Amino acid sequence: MENPYDYMQTALDELSAQGNLRILPHALHEGRYLYAAGQKMLNLSSNDYLGLAADLELRTRFLESLTPEDFLPSSSSSRLLTGNHPAFDELETALARLYGAESALVFNSGYDANTGILPAIAMQDDLILADKLVHASLIDGMRLSRAHWLRFKHNNVKHLERLLALNASNYRHVIIVTESLFSMDGDEAPLRELVRLKQLYPNVLLYVDEAHAFGLRGPRGLGCCEEQGCIGEVDFLMGTLGKAAASAGAFVICRRVIRDYLVNHVRPFIFTTALPPVIAKWSRHVLHLLPEMGERRQRLDQLARHLRRALREQRIKCPSTSHIIPLLIGDSAEAVRRAEDMQRRGFYVRAVRPPTVPEGTARLRISLRADMTDEEMEQLITYIPKM
Ligand SMILES: *Cc1c(COP(=O)(O)O)cnc(C)c1O
Repeated sequence: MENPYDYMQTALDELSAQGNLRILPHALHEGRYLYAAGQKMLNLSSNDYLGLAADLELRTRFLESLTPEDFLPSSSSSRLLTGNHPAFDELETALARLYGAESALVFNSGYDANTGILPAIAMQDDLILADKLVHASLIDGMRLSRAHWLRFKHNNVKHLERLLALNASNYRHVIIVTESLFSMDGDEAPLRELVRLKQLYPNVLLYVDEAHAFGLRGPRGLGCCEEQGCIGEVDFLMGTLGKAAASAGAFVICRRVIRDYLVNHVRPFIFTTALPPVIAKWSRHVLHLLPEMGERRQRLDQLARHLRRALREQRIKCPSTSHIIPLLIGDSAEAVRRAEDMQRRGFYVRAVRPPTVPEGTARLRISLRADMTDEEMEQLITYIPKM
């Protein structure tokens, strides 16, 4: 009889042979720097795009505003039982007001939101049409739902248009699912075009994940929907608080009726202990400051344009139109080797490998941050062609 653990070792050995074995890295943080293997590196692998998580002064001011009574590290229950602390209402009210929407609902994480909302709204006579490159949490949400689902080619409006024309009348509802700013390619969805398609059919809804755009895009940092002027046309505008907003959790901006429905149907909302109230307070604190952070947003945009121009000049292909800059390598082991090379040069850049990205498209993923200096950017550019 085979040892029941043997298959695990075999699976690990296979991953290792493919260069795809993942291990938990150990690192110490100091502002925008990270220490690992005795080396100080600029952290270009986090999602702290505005440098808010690294901002000691911001945290200090928040801590000074807290009393031991406010500092609640546990909500001790689901929000539907006794965990609905006023901090959640305040955060949701602030979010809804900021977006000029009827309501907002906060979730413990973006993963919870995406894996919870899709199964709650998509039934067996519904169809989900998702961009080919959407995040794993959205894919898991589709898998958990009882709906049929199809993928359209990445950012390909023509393909989506065909799928809608073929299918829309055969289903109760069709839900178009996309990210606004794609996490691995750094390019953007044509949101206005998606809205136009949606409006051709009475039974089509639009779900947009703004995880990498919230805090960064649009005049007040509300995301690509704000930037492209279509907040009001998106049925489910989902954003996360753990990336540029330097906190934890996620939210969806929606109609009041949708919110009430979600509160009654989203299992990762109902059957989980709410976030610590102190986290909701911190999110509220950061949210209050975000609209005024235009300077940090402009700085990030300027850095990103600079690096993308340098890549173009060196004829390095890159799909990005944002601060997320992938350098395509292909082979996983080679991507890891090049990432280690960058790390030895003081830049903490990591390889992103399958299954996070499609087979054969392993890459270095550079996440720029508004708090890096011009000197650091120039250094980074000089190292890239020597990879
Ligand atoms: C990070 C991410 C999520 C998950 O959000 P968490 O709050 O980290 O769980 C969802 N969607 C996209 C596109 C993401 O990049």
